[in-house]
Amino acid sequence: MRRLALVGNWKMHTTPSQARELARELRERLEGIRDADIAVCPPATSIPAVAEALAGSNIAWGAQNAHWAEAGAFTGEISVSALRELGCTYVIVGHSERRHIFGESDEMVAKRLVWVIASGLVPILCVGETEAERELGQTEKVLTRQLERACADIEEPPAMVAYEPVWAIGTGKRAEIGDMEMAHRFIRERLAARFGSKAQGVRILYGGSLKPANVAELASSEEFDGGLVGGASLSASSFAELIARAIERRNH
Ligand code: PEP
Repeated sequence: MRRLALVGNWKMHTTPSQARELARELRERLEGIRDADIAVCPPATSIPAVAEALAGSNIAWGAQNAHWAEAGAFTGEISVSALRELGCTYVIVGHSERRHIFGESDEMVAKRLVWVIASGLVPILCVGETEAERELGQTEKVLTRQLERACADIEEPPAMVAYEPVWAIGTGKRAEIGDMEMAHRFIRERLAARFGSKAQGVRILYGGSLKPANVAELASSEEFDGGLVGGASLSASSFAELIARAIERRNH
């Protein structure tokens, strides 16, 4: 089995001072946990505060997006060199909120992915179908398109892929274990078709209404390499409990 990874996506929540507090509390609660890779991705403006609070701990931090150029006339964007300087380990790429609210195309996602990998940061490539696409039976078609386009210009597979069905994000409707397993297996097959045996090392995370109360069932599956967690990562107690339950189930 691959090592478990649990990553909190704080989205546009927390000011720098709130983020510092949340990170400090997480550090206290998660100290000593060695059975999973743990990370949080705060808003870019809160990364310095989080970096300070988590330095030297077992919790890494990352960003929610990154641009594909070293620097330049790209108002509102964030460079990978700035993220590296802030000690980031991870970068989320292609989150569905970026795709669906801000119109990021598969091509933009592909460019970001190239640059993130080249810079030595660890990408978390997000893919997933909308509710309408699911109802039309297009899940596999959508996953194939997103993966093929995102991976068009890279030689190595992304270290992490998050399967995040859009209908499950922030809705309280978590995917059933069978749906998660089918999607994760399919994603790995597509990655294997493109990258061969290297696909075996990719960690496929699930994201979408993951909570302390519902993580254990998914964590019992070999297809679950971890979670990308939105709402439940905004409270130190719920994120810590979710992590503890996932590890407990995995070690069971
Ligand atoms: C996310 O934003 O990546 C996510 C999975 O959100 P939530 O856990 O709130 O559904």
